[in-house]
Amino acid sequence: MSDSNQPLLEVKNLRVAIEGKEILRGVDLVVNSGEIHALMGRNGSGKSTMANVLMGHPHYEVLEGSVLYRDQDLLELDTDERARLGMFLAFQYPMAIPGVTVAKFLHSALKAHSESGEVAVKDFRSSLRGAMELLGVDSTFANRYVNDGFSGGEKKRLEILQMFMLEPGLCILDETDSGLDIDALKTVAEGVNAMRSEERSMLMITHYRRLLDYVTPDVVHVMMDGRIVRTGGVELAETLEERGYEWLEEELFAATEGNEGESAQA
Ligand code: ADP
Ligand code: MG
Repeated sequence: MSDSNQPLLEVKNLRVAIEGKEILRGVDLVVNSGEIHALMGRNGSGKSTMANVLMGHPHYEVLEGSVLYRDQDLLELDTDERARLGMFLAFQYPMAIPGVTVAKFLHSALKAHSESGEVAVKDFRSSLRGAMELLGVDSTFANRYVNDGFSGGEKKRLEILQMFMLEPGLCILDETDSGLDIDALKTVAEGVNAMRSEERSMLMITHYRRLLDYVTPDVVHVMMDGRIVRTGGVELAETLEERGYEWLEEELFAATEGNEGESAQA
C-alpha cells in the first residue's frame, strides 16, 4: 500500500508563546507523504518558531493545539525521539563545534539514529563518500571541524549532507537558501531534489522565491503574524515575488473590513 496522500504531519490550531509573548496564533497545517510544502513569509512572521516547535525546542511554550506525526502526538516527545521518528531540521543558523570533525559528527548522528546505536565505520565511510560525491562536496570536507570557519554556503552544504545521510521522513529546511551564492543554492536544490520521494515530505521555509525556481513545491503557504493566511500552488509564490507581501496584506485587510461591515449591519 502506498503512503501517498496520507497525512504525515497534522498541525491543528497551534498556539505558541516565547517569553510570555504569543508568536504562533493558531496554525493549521497538513503535510501529506511525498509532498513538498513551502512556508513563506516576512521576517518575524513566526516561521522559525514553527520549525523549532515542530522539532521540540524547549524554549517555546505550547499554549494550545495539537501536532501529529504519523498519528503520534509529537508534543509528548523530546527532540531526540522526534528525530528518531524521522524528523529533521536544517537550521537557519548552524552552530560550530570546534574539535569535532564533520565525519565524526555525522557518524555520531547516524549512530544516535540507529536502533542498535552502532554503525560500522566501514559502512559509514562508504555511505559518506557516496553522499559527498552525489552532493558535489569536496572530500577534504570530512576532516574539517563542524562549521568552524565555514562559509555560509559550506554550512548549508553540511546541513544537506547530514539530511541526506539520515534519510528523514520529514525534512524541515529553515531558510537553507538564505545568503547562498548561486552555486551553493544549486547544491542545496540538487540535494533536496535527489531526496524527493513518495515516502519523504519536506517543509521548506523560505523568505524568497529563489529556491523555488530549482525545487518546485506542491503547496505554498504564507505566514503572517503567526498564522497561515493563504495556501495555494506554486503560482502563489510567483505572485508574492511580483507583488510583494503588501498586496496580500491589503486583500486580507479588505476581507476583514468587509466581514466587520456585514456583522455591523446584521
Ligand atoms: P521568522 O523566522 O519568520 O523570521 P521568528 O519565528 O524567528 O520569525 O520570530 C517570530 C517572532 O518571535 C518575532 O517577533 C521575534 O522577535 C520573536 N522571537 C523569536 N525568538 C525569540 C526569542 N528567543 N525571544 C523573544 N522573542 C523571540
Ligand atoms: Mg527565521
